[in-house]
Amino acid sequence: MSRRLFIAGNWKMHKGPRDADALAVELKRALVDHPSVDLAVAPPAISIPAVVARLQHTGIAVAGQDLHDQVSGAFTGAISGEMLAQAGATHVLVGHSERRALFGDTDQIVAAKLQAAFRAGLLPILCVGETLSERDAGQAEAVVARQLSTALSSLSIDQVLTLTIAYEPVWAIGTGRTASPAQAQEMHASIRGWLASRYPREVPATVRIQYGGSVKGSNAAGLLSQPDIDGALVGGAALTADSFQAIVAAAAQVGASSGH
Ligand code: PEP
Repeated sequence: MSRRLFIAGNWKMHKGPRDADALAVELKRALVDHPSVDLAVAPPAISIPAVVARLQHTGIAVAGQDLHDQVSGAFTGAISGEMLAQAGATHVLVGHSERRALFGDTDQIVAAKLQAAFRAGLLPILCVGETLSERDAGQAEAVVARQLSTALSSLSIDQVLTLTIAYEPVWAIGTGRTASPAQAQEMHASIRGWLASRYPREVPATVRIQYGGSVKGSNAAGLLSQPDIDGALVGGAALTADSFQAIVAAAAQVGASSGH
């Protein structure tokens, strides 16, 4: 079964509304030629309305970077999935390693946020991945299996079917150090195998698994041509239209030649 490649850009804490609008204008121009690749950008929450307005009718989806698990309440500074949806987002990142490491998101909190994303009608991109010390200790597969197992524990099969999983080894995020295509493929195959051992065949065949960690134009094709890598979650290289377009162009080429 072929899965359309899905490239998402995580802008992190970059681009307020004015700068986000300017980047969206450039992206609209740069990405118009790639209808064969699914695309999303995740601006800071405050910039979502500007980006949604600018990217209307382009097919480029807009995602939140995080959400609270409650609908509303006394949670100063937090944003709910319902608010992201009201602002026009259709997707949301859940469990990004920076949220896990810097903001205390445990596996249980990530599971609650995932439920909240579905409650709000958002399509989640669930981020998983091991740290360098966990990899060095031979724990990479076990850590990712634990993250998946807790996050997916109370989801229905229909919900799991709409999920995107982003495998992002923490040691490759923002470091310039990318997993080799073979290293990434090994983990992606392990994630698909984990899905296959717990769900009907349709699930591992359908769920897209993005790779994330210092993806750029020069390494994208090698990663995306692996059979179990169905896209990329891009940080630094998503901050200019040129560098993001180079990744999307590589994806379009891989898609055309591999039937991805
Ligand atoms: C990310 O933040 O999800 C990411 C992969 O960042 P970078 O591409 O900068 O490593």
